[in-house]
Amino acid sequence: MAQPKYNATVVERNTLSQDLMILKVKLDDPSFSFLPGQYTVLGLLPDAESVVPQKSEVTPLVDSPKKMIMRAYSIASSSSTEEHLEFYLSLVPNGTLTPRLFALKEGDRLYVSPKAVGLFTLERIPRDAHAILVGTGTGLAPYMSILRSQLVCGGDRKFAVLHGARHSWDLGYRAQLEAMAQNCKNFFYFPAISRPKEDPSWSGLCGYLQDVLVSGVLEEQAGLPLDPTKVHVFLCGNPGMIQAAKELLEKRGYTPDKGRVSGTLHTEEYW
Ligand SMILES: Cc1cc2nc3c(=O)[nH]c(=O)nc-3n(C[C@H](O)[C@H](O)[C@H](O)COP(=O)(O)OP(=O)(O)OC[C@H]3O[C@@H](n4cnc5c(N)ncnc54)[C@H](O)[C@@H]3O)c2cc1C
Repeated sequence: MAQPKYNATVVERNTLSQDLMILKVKLDDPSFSFLPGQYTVLGLLPDAESVVPQKSEVTPLVDSPKKMIMRAYSIASSSSTEEHLEFYLSLVPNGTLTPRLFALKEGDRLYVSPKAVGLFTLERIPRDAHAILVGTGTGLAPYMSILRSQLVCGGDRKFAVLHGARHSWDLGYRAQLEAMAQNCKNFFYFPAISRPKEDPSWSGLCGYLQDVLVSGVLEEQAGLPLDPTKVHVFLCGNPGMIQAAKELLEKRGYTPDKGRVSGTLHTEEYW
């Protein structure tokens, strides 16, 4: 198979912290299309600059010095924006691709697969079902695309985002989500942090997302009960959170949505 070539340019980089960023890229071919919630593949060559020293004991050696390093990334931008694609990325310091992605600057080139894939979309749920969107860290990315493309402000379908991070300063897109919740009576935002001792000024929700999810707070404050006949649940990001939440939700009658079998529990594991 032919080696893929760089086909996109970084148009904006928004560094949120040392290990979190929002990257906007423009594809050479503007005909790229996707469904909100889907992902594509980003790639860089092994000789691309890296923010972590390129020693085998720090960054794993790549298969071949010329083979493109490729990983899956959820698209965070709206499906109706043709200007650019947006990605919400976290640095895995001992990872292969992310130390290279974090060295990208405006104007740099990279590979973006011309195809978006995945079933983690609202197309899988009935039109009258409400949606709880649970994400750890950059697991928020597909929900940003879904909300930007498909939230009808004031509409009948309710959405709640339950976003978890270690500290309040790791809650990307917080200001945008707070504004959305203020303006749209059918959208609810629940940020939660898992290390409150390191963030003493935080007065919001604390703990692991699976525990917050079943605590009753979404039913109390958003009128969203964990009832699979009315509310579908999406889980994205850390596989540990997904497994733990899945076990709790299955006890409440939720069933996995997978391939040809439709269900009320939708999952996207990042590793
Ligand atoms: C469908 C899908 C969508 C994804 N979307 C996103 C996204 O929108 N944003 C994003 O940042 N990542 C996303 N990922 C994760 C991404 O594909 C890479 O796995 C991640 O960026 C690490 O790549 P790497 O080459 O640096 O690390 P690798 O060399 O692939 O991995 C090194 C080690 O780190 C572990 N690891 C991988 N990712 C993480 C992580 N985030 N935190 C902690 N440990 C990890 C792996 O288990 C592995 O052992 C997605 C994954 C999938 C499957």
